[in-house]
Parts: sequence; structure tokens; C-alpha cells
Amino acid sequence: EAKRDPGTSYRFYDRQLHISAGYQLRLEGDLRNALRGRELELYYQPRIDLASNEVRGVECLLRWNHPKRGLVGPDEFIPVAERSGLIVPIGYWVIEQACKRLKEAAELGFPGLVFAVNLSFRQFHDRKMTETIFRIIFNANVDTSLLELELTESAMMHDPEYAQRCLRELNQLGISFALDDFGTGFSSLSNLQHLPISLVKIDKSFVQDLGQSADAEHIIRAIISLAHSLQISVVAEGVETEGQLEFLRQQHCDEIQGYYYARPMPWADLVQFLNERDQSACLQL
Ligand code: C2E
Ligand code: MG
Ligand code: MG
Ligand code: MG
Repeated sequence: EAKRDPGTSYRFYDRQLHISAGYQLRLEGDLRNALRGRELELYYQPRIDLASNEVRGVECLLRWNHPKRGLVGPDEFIPVAERSGLIVPIGYWVIEQACKRLKEAAELGFPGLVFAVNLSFRQFHDRKMTETIFRIIFNANVDTSLLELELTESAMMHDPEYAQRCLRELNQLGISFALDDFGTGFSSLSNLQHLPISLVKIDKSFVQDLGQSADAEHIIRAIISLAHSLQISVVAEGVETEGQLEFLRQQHCDEIQGYYYARPMPWADLVQFLNERDQSACLQL
């Protein structure tokens, strides 16, 4: 209707629309260039095993070094990438990059480090997903048992049959799956028991409510005990304090990830972080 009537009644609305559509388009264009122009970068956040105190793996987290705006976090541009479909090529780039680093880690003396990559809803529903991932890992020639894909409940529950088929196919190649941001969706773990999921990540909102809400404690306890009864490991996200860590340790949470141990960091910093931990471990002997 807006096009047919260039009059006055909708002018305000139209202008608003132009601003947001224009902004959206600009961001989209910038993002397209970013993918081509190597402005995207992965940061790596260590995940620590509470029983051994070792770094089990890292989560790969996307960052955008925007030429004018500086470092932009994924919460700002992933929604745009999702809406425009750009998340699909970006997501494959992320997996390729993670595979490259996975090999590099082994060469640097850190074999066995798990690399976790986030898969968006749209990418998970890309019709060429399994085929493309297969091609990427085949070309990269990596140990697929070190590759973990993180999906949210909503991505899995949208079409459970499709999810089951894809997860099984990729699982047969050695890839494992983690359920991200668990507790925020509407599914229960029992809905997911037929899927090859080896890990559940407790959403950071529960961890951050510890000490302030008894509910958070109950929910975390329930998730851990149910997951363990299904032979699923548990990672707590967003651990920032000693108190949170202690509670999670008492509940036999398997791994933690959070600022308390380490923030997401560029590759070079991660290598330094791993080397320093190695050295201090040697000194303790
Ligand atoms: P996520 O997968 O749940 O990742 C964990 C987020 O929690 C990361 O935010 C991480 O920096 C943050 N975090 C970790 N420890 C702490 C802590 O102790 N305190 C607090 N406050 N935050 C902590 P980030 O890097 O901003 O990423 C946000 C979300 O963007 C991710 O949530 C994930 O859903 C999405 N994302 C990131 N990289 C990718 C990607 O390559 N592909 C896709 N599809 N999504 C991605
Ligand atoms: Mg994640
Ligand atoms: Mg999460
Ligand atoms: Mg999240």
C-alpha cells in the first residue's frame, strides 16, 4: 500500500521503515564483504574439566572486525545473518576454520582438544548441510571425534525427524553433539533421548542466578541428574565466580566454561594460555 499512496498518511511509518531497512541492508552488505574480506575471526573459549582440571576443549565464537565499528559481537550480527541467509556460508566458513585450528592444535602439542562450533537454526535446516559438512571434514582430513556441534533445543525440536536423521548421519562420521542454552526452551531431555547427544550446556542465566534464586539451584541439580542418568555430560556456561564453581563441583557438573577461568580469546592468546597451563602443571609435579 505504501507504494501506491505517496501521500502523507504513512509518511512517518515509511521513514521509520526506511531507516531500519536501510540499516539492515547496509549491515547485510557489510557482512557479505566481511566474509570475502577476511574480517571475520574466531575467538576460542576454554572449557575446563572439573575432575582433572584440564582444558577439555574450546568453543569457537565468531567475531567481526568491522573496519569502522571495531570488534562486533555475534549477538549484533547473527540475527542479520540469519534473516538474510548469509549465516549459511558464514557457518561453513566457521567449520572450516575450526578444522584448520584443530589440526594446528595437534601440531602444537595439544592433541585431543575438542573444538565446539555453534550451528544456527537456518544452517541446520540448509538442505545441503550434511553433505557440505561431510565435504569440509573430508577435505580438512581431521579427527572428527574432536569436532562437536552445538545446537539449541528449538533447532532440534522444529522437525524432530529431520533432526534425528541429520544427527545420526553426522554422528556416524564421528561428530558429536551438544545441546546449547539448555533449560531456556520448552523441550525436556526426555524428548531428546533418541538423539545422539553427548553433552548438555546449562544456559548461563541459571548459573548467574545461583545464590540469588533457589529455583536456579533446583533446576541445575535436576538437569545434571537427569543428564547423567542418560549418560549425557554437562557443561555449565557463564561461570564467573568461585561460589558458582563450588556449587557446580558439588553437583558433579562435568565441565565449566566462563570468565572465571577464561574469556573467549584470539587464537594466538589461546595457544599462549594452553602453553602456560602446561608449564604450571609441570612445575606442580
Ligand atoms: P553461546 O553459544 O551460548 O555462547 C556462549 C556465550 O556466552 C558467548 O557469547 C560467550 O562469550 C559468553 N560467555 C562465556 N562465558 C561467560 C561468562 O562467564 N559470563 C558472561 N556474561 N558471558 C559468558 P558470544 O561470544 O557473544 O556469543 C553469543 C552467541 O552467539 C552464542 O551463544 C551463539 O549462540 C552465537 N554464536 C557465536 N558464534 C557463532 C557461530 O559461529 N555461529 C552461530 N550460528 N552462532 C554463533
Ligand atoms: Mg554455544
Ligand atoms: Mg550457550
Ligand atoms: Mg546463547
